[in-house]
Amino acid sequence: MILDGTAVRAEILSRLKPRIGKLRRPPGLAVVLVGHDPASEIYVRGKIKASAELAIYSEKITPPETISTEDLLAIVEDLNRRPEIDAILVQMPLPRQIDSRRILESVAADKDADGFHPLNVGHLVAGRPAPRPCTPAGIVEMLKYYHVPMDGRRAVIVGRSDIVGKPMAMMLLHENATVTMCHSRTWNLPEECYRADILVAALGRPAFITGEFIAPGATVIDVGQSRIVDRALAARIGKAEEFERKGSVLVGDVHPVEVAQRASAYTPVPGGVGPLTIAMLMSNTVDLAERHQ
Ligand code: NAP
Repeated sequence: MILDGTAVRAEILSRLKPRIGKLRRPPGLAVVLVGHDPASEIYVRGKIKASAELAIYSEKITPPETISTEDLLAIVEDLNRRPEIDAILVQMPLPRQIDSRRILESVAADKDADGFHPLNVGHLVAGRPAPRPCTPAGIVEMLKYYHVPMDGRRAVIVGRSDIVGKPMAMMLLHENATVTMCHSRTWNLPEECYRADILVAALGRPAFITGEFIAPGATVIDVGQSRIVDRALAARIGKAEEFERKGSVLVGDVHPVEVAQRASAYTPVPGGVGPLTIAMLMSNTVDLAERHQ
């Protein structure tokens, strides 16, 4: 079974619409995009577009690439004070001169659209309600949507980043999975992964997870998104034709041909995990607006 992220996204957004309709004023989302990183611009455009579709008020603030940490802090603090703004997102990565940690910690915890504030990380660990990091929260929604059992199952996560791997582990633990976290220092990674009923690949290495990592019948969630310009790699993973047409291909962390041969269910790239992230950002924004109102 192919786990279709666009279908799950549509379901998440359709559940938000009636909740937005009940609010006294539209939820307000502010997105801060520093500079002109092309990938960040695409992500931000998607976030603004999704807000418009749901009648969420959104505001894009675009300080120049050269902004200082102090000036960016002042922008965030202004947004923290504005009552019509329920949620604030500072698009990462920030330019090198900016102290990213200080910026993330300056967003008011009750306006933290991404769930990255240390207080909200603490709430996640403790299992209390709070904005959740969007990508892993979307993955839990997807597993529920497709009735993939988590309770008592073995979940193996490859990657321990603060935005995907670690919060994913906590969320699967709260769903009563038995969780193993793997990373670049894990010994015998294929063997660890082979034990998984649910395997989440979030390592940022194109097509790294091949058939030998996947037990027959496992559910495989591919978080990776890498645009590759290597013709030989594209050919090895069955994407030669797409490569010739476009000059590059978007590839996940899981080998797309071998996963189809072994897993019982898996997410494609694109069209799997990708669409869920923005949907969960909208969900966090609506949660925060309900709380404020
Ligand atoms: P990250 O911060 O670069 O972390 C990568 C993690 O993978 C690290 O914990 C690293 O281990 C581990 N790792 C790297 N190489 C490994 C190897 N050979 N074997 C085992 N573990 C290895 O990455 P991220 O931000 O979590 O993102 C991961 C991927 O997901 C990227 O492709 C990113 O583009 C994608 N992503 C997609 C979405 C979406 O919406 N679909 C959202 C976020 C991220 P160490 O800690 O030991 O270094």
